[in-house]
Amino acid sequence: MLCTQHKLKGPSDDELSTFAVLRRVYIERDEVKQIASILQRSDRIHLFRVGGLIFHAIGQLLPSQMANFHSPTAIFPVGYEATRIYWSTRVPNKRCRYRCRIGEDDGRPLFEVRVLEHGMEDLHYRDTTAEGIWDRVVQQVAKLRDDSSMLKLFTEHVKGEEMYGLTVHAVMRITESLPGVESCQNYQFRYGRHPLMELPLMINPTGSARSEPKVATQCKRPHTLNSTSVSKAYQSTFTGELNTPYSKQFVHSKSSQYRRLKTEWKNNVYLARSRIQGLGLYAAKDLEKHTMVIEYIGTVIRNEVANRREKIYESQNRGIYMFRINNEQVIDATLTGGPARYVNHSCAPNCVAEVVTFDKEDKIIIISSRRIPKGEELTYDYQFDFEDDQHKIPCHCGAWNCRKWMN
Ligand SMILES: [Zn+2]
Ligand SMILES: [Zn+2]
Repeated sequence: MLCTQHKLKGPSDDELSTFAVLRRVYIERDEVKQIASILQRSDRIHLFRVGGLIFHAIGQLLPSQMANFHSPTAIFPVGYEATRIYWSTRVPNKRCRYRCRIGEDDGRPLFEVRVLEHGMEDLHYRDTTAEGIWDRVVQQVAKLRDDSSMLKLFTEHVKGEEMYGLTVHAVMRITESLPGVESCQNYQFRYGRHPLMELPLMINPTGSARSEPKVATQCKRPHTLNSTSVSKAYQSTFTGELNTPYSKQFVHSKSSQYRRLKTEWKNNVYLARSRIQGLGLYAAKDLEKHTMVIEYIGTVIRNEVANRREKIYESQNRGIYMFRINNEQVIDATLTGGPARYVNHSCAPNCVAEVVTFDKEDKIIIISSRRIPKGEELTYDYQFDFEDDQHKIPCHCGAWNCRKWMN
């Protein structure tokens, strides 16, 4: 339609007399993208609904749980939650909400369903399988229909995993993208890992297997500082005390490189959305091997201070950026850090983080370990200590030799 100023004067072929569209219009909808964005928000406001299923939370699986928490047709993440709308077992011809959850009991999946029905007390079901619960529900519904001489219900078509929503396309796309699910031996993958799904399934901030993972887009360090899983660096000291002529020259070149780095790092890097997680740092130009790329700046603090700060940051839901220099000292870059804190972990990194001593002060420098072409994301190996299941952090670096877990 045209505004009054542009309105054609006389009758014209260009003017529409009707708004009817005479051909079919297809609106393309990328379902996977939509699901991924819902997961990334994970605020429990944006839910998705497929038919009679409302999806709430995906939950997660730890390496030791993979073996028991799946069947050939479904994966059972701990913390998974969805609501199924289905026939009531108490009021004929009425539907109600079945809140389905997967928990854990003694290393085995525990299926729990709470029935929410208007004006009635909640019902609770518990079983070691989804079938166990839904067979009972369906039998009760069938009996109720029988008693009120309604049409028979075909109970054999109701499958527990399906009622739980675990076999719904959209849900399977997510469960099959959970970190580490490749080791579910008896499970038959339908779609396989989807790269878009990998971002949000990151960290379990409470460290409890029972809670679902929250999005921690900027969290590059685990929360278990006291167990020394802060990023570590290769120790290499360049002081004037080395005595061979070769070393002396080496020392000289290193310290002059460091002085230049103070002003030149800005030409080396740029910040952009990472292919691995959250934000990442990229090479702004071709970097030769052994180039000092950027210094990891922050406040040098002692362990005890670091532990205290970690708790405060955690309570503020802040991404924690700390880097261990040695057994006593940590660099805290959470509030005072530079862009180096955005360098992501990779199992096949192109940089190393080295502790370099200049004028008797320990500095952490990110140094290229090979030639890095312009535009490549910078990474180094965080070298976290190995952790027990409760504190595992999945790795999404995408390297061919990825260890799957960062610790
Ligand atoms: Zn106009
Ligand atoms: Zn990796």
